[in-house]
Order: sequence, then structure tokens, then C-alpha cells
Amino acid sequence: MKKEIIPIVHEAVLAAGGQHSLAKSIGVTPQRVHNWLRNGIPAKFVIQVAWHSGVSRHKLQPDIYPEEKMSLYQCENCGCMENTALGFYWTARLRNDEYKDKKLCSACGPTKSEDGRETPYGKWHGEFPRIYLPKGMFITDREGNLAHKLNGDTNFRAYAIYPEEK
Ligand SMILES: [Zn+2]
Repeated sequence: MKKEIIPIVHEAVLAAGGQHSLAKSIGVTPQRVHNWLRNGIPAKFVIQVAWHSGVSRHKLQPDIYPEEKMSLYQCENCGCMENTALGFYWTARLRNDEYKDKKLCSACGPTKSEDGRETPYGKWHGEFPRIYLPKGMFITDREGNLAHKLNGDTNFRAYAIYPEEK
């Protein structure tokens, strides 16, 4: 018996520009993406599919990502507050030495990956007010909140600074 197409996977593939476009973006064969329509997305690709489609990882894989809530983090370059839905927290796959393993906001990352493909970086620059925080002073706690490194305070807005003060 042929399995049914999983609606949310179908939605994600369409939102990412179709099977070929999504396959190219994440570096797998279109056939592989096609298989996901009925078999589901393997855990190791969920984050990338969520990124390219805008469909949340929770919707794609509720067993692995039970919380809809987005994590906050601090950009290592400019110090602004960013969330995991907008910023490109997962930079390792770009394999670009300058940026590798850095947590960057959507405005600070490379706009092209090593092989010349466009990245999701740089696209939200200036579209909404950013909250800048003292650089290197905030970490993401277990609940996904930003917490002050020294005192654990999650009311990060109290530490906001103007960009000129960075
Ligand atoms: Zn930044």
C-alpha cells in the first residue's frame, strides 16, 4: 500500500520553492526530497528544511522539537538579540572559515556560501528595531531565554544599549 503524502511536509516543500529548489538548497538529491513527502523528513534535515521553508521545526518533527517557542541568542558579531527563527544560528554547514560555528544575527552573516549560493543572511537588515546588548555578555539558557552571563538575569531588555555605544 502506498503511503499518503504528509500534508505538512508537502507544505514545507512548496514553501521552499519545490522539490528541486529545496534539494539544491540543502545539498541532497530531488529524489530524496520526494521520498520525504511520504516518509517524513529525517531528523538531521529538519532544521534546514524549517529554515528554507519557514515552517517551524516543531510542526515538521513534533517528537523531536516539542516546543513551538523560539530560542533567543546574542549575535557574536554585533551583540544584538536574535531568535532562532530569524537568525542563522546553524552556520556550520556553510563551511566558511570566517563564520564557522559562530552564532550570528540575520544581518551579520555571509550573504553567499562558499560555493556561491545565497544564504538566508542579510535579508532582514534594518527591517525591524534591533535590541543591542553588551557584546559577549549573554548566553542562551535551557529554556531558550537570553540570560546575563554573570547574574543569570533574563530581563535582557534592562541591559539594552544604543548601537553607538557598542
Ligand atoms: Zn549581528
